[in-house]
Amino acid sequence: MTSPTPGPDIALDDLYRDILLDHYRSPRNRGRLEGRATNAADGANPLCGDELTVEVTVEDGTITEIAIDGRGCSISQASASMMSVFVRERGTAEALEAVETFQRMMLKGETPPEEFGDIEALAGVMKFPVRVKCASLGWKTLEQALGDGGSVSTDERSTGDD
Ligand code: ZN
Repeated sequence: MTSPTPGPDIALDDLYRDILLDHYRSPRNRGRLEGRATNAADGANPLCGDELTVEVTVEDGTITEIAIDGRGCSISQASASMMSVFVRERGTAEALEAVETFQRMMLKGETPPEEFGDIEALAGVMKFPVRVKCASLGWKTLEQALGDGGSVSTDERSTGDD
């Protein structure tokens, strides 16, 4: 039996689609930190119905643990899974910089740094503006968690100074 096809209803390269589906079906760092979180935020993308909770444990400026909980389309969940792998064991400043880099990749088509690895698979989503919000949700929620906490919605410009 195969799991139900989440079917990104968009045409991505096969390789990229496989990477996304792998993260969607086997999300990394899934769950909750059960009280060990030092920072957390909720994110929502009402347009698509995606919801995420991002919890992190920050020790001496380093993200030592991260957990993602939520539901939504394959792109939102896969992107959050990839984000969690990337930022774990990194400094918070580096993680926030990665959020900016990711946004530039998605919104401006900037070539991602080599260390982004599989995350580049999400660049194909750029052609579908509605889906960019799905892909960005996990990253914006992480940014919110490392900032003021609380919640963030892709419907609002509440995540930054500019
Ligand atoms: Zn979505």
